[in-house]
Amino acid sequence: MAAVELDGIVRRFGDTTAVAEVSLATERNDFLVLLGPSGCGKTTLLRMIAGLLEPTEGRILVDGRDVTALPPRERDLAMVFQNYALYPHLSVERNLGFGLSVRRTGKEELRRRVDDVADLLDLGPLLRRRPKELSGGQRQRVALGRAMVREPEAFLMDEPLSNLDAKLRASTRTRLISLHRRLDTTFVYVTHDQIDAMTMATKVAVLDQGRIEQFGTPVDIYDRPATAFVAGFMGAPPMNLLPAELGTGPDSRLVLRAAGLELSLPHRGDPGVPDVLLGIRPEHLVPAADGELRGRVDIVENLGSEEVAEVLVGDARVSVRGPRPLELTPGAAATFTVRAEHIHLFGRQSGRRLTWEPAPAPALVS
Ligand code: ATP
Repeated sequence: MAAVELDGIVRRFGDTTAVAEVSLATERNDFLVLLGPSGCGKTTLLRMIAGLLEPTEGRILVDGRDVTALPPRERDLAMVFQNYALYPHLSVERNLGFGLSVRRTGKEELRRRVDDVADLLDLGPLLRRRPKELSGGQRQRVALGRAMVREPEAFLMDEPLSNLDAKLRASTRTRLISLHRRLDTTFVYVTHDQIDAMTMATKVAVLDQGRIEQFGTPVDIYDRPATAFVAGFMGAPPMNLLPAELGTGPDSRLVLRAAGLELSLPHRGDPGVPDVLLGIRPEHLVPAADGELRGRVDIVENLGSEEVAEVLVGDARVSVRGPRPLELTPGAAATFTVRAEHIHLFGRQSGRRLTWEPAPAPALVS
């Protein structure tokens, strides 16, 4: 049975459609990340799951139970916000136990659950402090702990790491991954940060303008983006997308042509859609003397173990990423090769991924 299921959810604010027909289902124990650019409807969706906002249309089910009409406190979900929302006048210990004491949980039970959570999140030595005596990362852990003591059906998190610096963000991610493994509970997590999605999620829903562009595992979404939007959103730098023409070459193989590029693909068939977007990830372009892609190097950036170069190809700017040194000189001509399995094609009008059957191996003559 799905842990959290959204069935045809729509939310309008006057003339604005913030969420347009979203349907998806998570399994128990999924770490679902709602990912997308600012304004795509992530927070609106999460607030509807939490019960803080009513959908205009559609149903929300938690463990098979229709909760659409239930108030937040009857949904057995715990929400962790970006801005912690801790009680400033209470100690860490009382912040952690607050939700249980208002529910009149017995003293011993409360003590046990607060101690368990403090242990799990390394908050033991901080129990007597007030929130203002804590670092940002410690406050975030208390906010998480406060949600955890309730032992909810699912955790709902809205950009909980966005106030943390890069190092703390990375270590808190690791902590969230191990918590998720131990708790056997559904997490629903809103972010615009694709690294959060790649590192923590078991499922990702990529949203744009209130619609799901793709729903799948992080690997699916990175390796087989369903649309040009998803391809251009994931990756740092994101996938290169170049306008190209698809035609037929000798022995009816497909041939791809763009400024500075001619590529014969190991596929046969009717191109159908001649105007395409050619997608290549920066790490799949490899400097090679006789490569198919010709351009002029503009900038080379040193990232430590890797380099990222920007190369001008016709009117387009293409990113190349690889181990340092890439041996590329700004201002010089350079050529790159790409393997056929690393080529992604999207309809230029529709933005949808295009696929063809690989050309059959030549028949053996006996
Ligand atoms: P961000 O990453 O910037 O928080 P988001 O993806 O969470 O963005 P939402 O906050 O869900 O986006 O907003 C989705 C759309 O709905 C936006 O166009 C927003 O302006 C609109 N919207 C959200 N809340 C309201 C509201 N209360 N009244 C009117 N419009 C709203």
